[in-house]
Amino acid sequence: MSANQNQTNIITPTNITVAKFGGTSVADFEAMLRCADIIKNNTANRVVVVSASAGVTNHLVRLSQADVPSNEREQILSNIADIQYAITQHFTNFEAINSEIVTLLESLRVFTDQQAANHTMKNSDEILAFGEQFSSRIFAQVLQSVGVNGHYFDVRQVMKTDSLFGKAQVDLNQLASNAQQLLLPLLNDKVIVTQGFIGSDQDNNTTTLGRGGSDYSAALLAEALQANNLSIWTDVVGIFTTDPRITDQARSINEISFGEAAEMATFGAKILHPATLIPAMRQDIPVFVGSSKEPDSGGTRIQREVNSNPTYRSIALRREQTLVTVKSPQMLHASGFLAKVFTVLAKHQLSVDLITTSEISVALTFDNPHGSTQALLTKAVVEELEQLCEVSVEHGLSLIAVIGNKIHGTKGVGSSIFDKVNDFNIRMICHGASNHNLCFLVPEADANQVVERLHNTLFTS
Ligand code: ASP
Ligand code: MG
Repeated sequence: MSANQNQTNIITPTNITVAKFGGTSVADFEAMLRCADIIKNNTANRVVVVSASAGVTNHLVRLSQADVPSNEREQILSNIADIQYAITQHFTNFEAINSEIVTLLESLRVFTDQQAANHTMKNSDEILAFGEQFSSRIFAQVLQSVGVNGHYFDVRQVMKTDSLFGKAQVDLNQLASNAQQLLLPLLNDKVIVTQGFIGSDQDNNTTTLGRGGSDYSAALLAEALQANNLSIWTDVVGIFTTDPRITDQARSINEISFGEAAEMATFGAKILHPATLIPAMRQDIPVFVGSSKEPDSGGTRIQREVNSNPTYRSIALRREQTLVTVKSPQMLHASGFLAKVFTVLAKHQLSVDLITTSEISVALTFDNPHGSTQALLTKAVVEELEQLCEVSVEHGLSLIAVIGNKIHGTKGVGSSIFDKVNDFNIRMICHGASNHNLCFLVPEADANQVVERLHNTLFTS
């Protein structure tokens, strides 16, 4: 062995899985123990990314808002404390972990008081970040209790972001070099337990990546560490052909390509944060989605190449769509009209999902989760559009996306889908732009029935 090799005590682990556990997976002590077993049973699991225990982020969101009466603040702080202590009371030696929890609770109180005195988005992110700090501190100890060398790691050291509090963008280059320098060497003999959802800006202020962002954090860490696998452990046995609450015929999908899964995540399958697959695709890291309650029941493997590429893979449903139709006789043989419309939308940060056009009118849909488009598509935006054209806005619609392969190049797709639902009012059919989907709108009240009927036709022949 050369002198040089002798000095090199950093041996890069060759097989790294980043495992992410969602809020229900770390909701209580029993749930955490199940996750600890999953880690213990596969030594490739070197990095664990946790969400806040179920319910905690919602409490923190309320705590971060302006005008929370002081008695409600106290109540929320005590609810959060109860959730943590309900877990730590199961430790045989709980003094050490409880003192960490006490320190965190005290610090949370400081930020909460500051927020009550002067509400800022910056402070809001400090508050929101506590959920993951509690759960990661506790989970590291749970790992130790089952004989795994679990170590807490503050992800803010590596997950550097801009200062867009509440919706921060990660600096991928900084993350990659920080992760290689600070995180990778630890993986030889430790299992690192760290936080999803949070990061820090260039001035080391805490930031958050947006609700549900822990999946995305895990994928970013997997990419930065050039991991071999990413496992997302949740409370369902993988990705289903459709929402099992709509039809009991829905079943778990064994394997699915990145392209199809990305469409599903975008079009409403709530199981993964929509951005999760982007880093995985960039680095070609297979993603497994399974249930931490039933780790032996299989799950869904998402990767670039899959064995079968069926025309129909799944049906996604997204409710509460807003349909905006803009109409202008000026559009007849004119150029530049669409550019003007989109300039207005871009200025107000409205992101368009579906588009259909005719010679003089354009129909657009916007996603409408609580507090998004509803808030953004203000009277001011509509009035600005009205300077350009006639505008009509409709609510109460659902978007259905049939997802699969070569949908735009397969004969008979139209009749397979629409013949079965021709007694419903189907609008805004979008077919052709994507190889992987065909989308349309239906009235909200018909959505479940349409999905159920299509699922029966396309999946249970
Ligand atoms: N705890 C955060 C949330 O509830 C992030 C996550 O769980 O993915 O949104
Ligand atoms: Mg989630």
